[in-house]
Amino acid sequence: MDNLQRQYLEAMGIQMWESRDGSAPTSPPEVVAEPAISEPVVRVAPVQAGKTEPLHLDTSSETQPKSAPGQAPELVPEQRLAQEDDVALLDWNALQSRVSTCALCDELVANRSQTVFGVGDPAADWMVIGEAPGTEEDQQGEPFVGPAGQLLNNMLLAMGLKREQTFLANILKCRLPDKRDPKQQEAANCRTFLERQIALVKPKIILLLGKVAAQNILSSDQTIGHMRGEVYYYGDEKIPIIVTYHPAYLLRAPKEKRKAWDDLKLAMSVYSRQAGA
Ligand code: SF4
Repeated sequence: MDNLQRQYLEAMGIQMWESRDGSAPTSPPEVVAEPAISEPVVRVAPVQAGKTEPLHLDTSSETQPKSAPGQAPELVPEQRLAQEDDVALLDWNALQSRVSTCALCDELVANRSQTVFGVGDPAADWMVIGEAPGTEEDQQGEPFVGPAGQLLNNMLLAMGLKREQTFLANILKCRLPDKRDPKQQEAANCRTFLERQIALVKPKIILLLGKVAAQNILSSDQTIGHMRGEVYYYGDEKIPIIVTYHPAYLLRAPKEKRKAWDDLKLAMSVYSRQAGA
């Protein structure tokens, strides 16, 4: 580990302790700064993107148990089905333009200052997907700003990645009112845009941040604790997916940062294999 990486790990909140005799810094006993990467369990995503609807999402905390089983899914309007075919043909600029004027979710349109399409390299190897824009993101028109964005930047830098080398996006392009969870219909409405973004970016790996992103993309109702630590695959291209905690959650639960670092190391390992394949 070089000094720069150590600095970013410390910026993530994963402390490195220096011994009194001045020898090389080590992690405190309760912090696993460099966990061994076990061979990941490979699991094909249970649902291919675009083939089914995501489940109801309950996002009051990263570790809250799953949503009620057997809940009847809302109906998908014909309007969305027509949009799917249409959006799948859009190029990057046309997609950005379409998102910027989207009015599919009445409540979100009334609540937003602007849509937040995403930011970064549209040909990035790494795509990072979170939940939805917060207040600051809504005002700035960019995902992952503010303290959570700064923590994400440090997480990326600890992996040797600059923010601008990735593409950052969210499940929803519009801010949610009152910090409530996305409704199933809202997530379904916006999923078409995200799927098109993934198809155009063609990332080599996808990092899902938080329960909402993970449950939505994987069509799962599992908790983050159950989903993290494994490798999933997206779509026919079988793009590897790694799940970890959302930086906003890590700010509230800093003890989970060491697990997040484990996840990032797994992601780096999978990416190395993918890039070398
Ligand atoms: S959340 Fe997505 S689908 Fe809904 S209005 Fe915003 S851009 Fe459109």
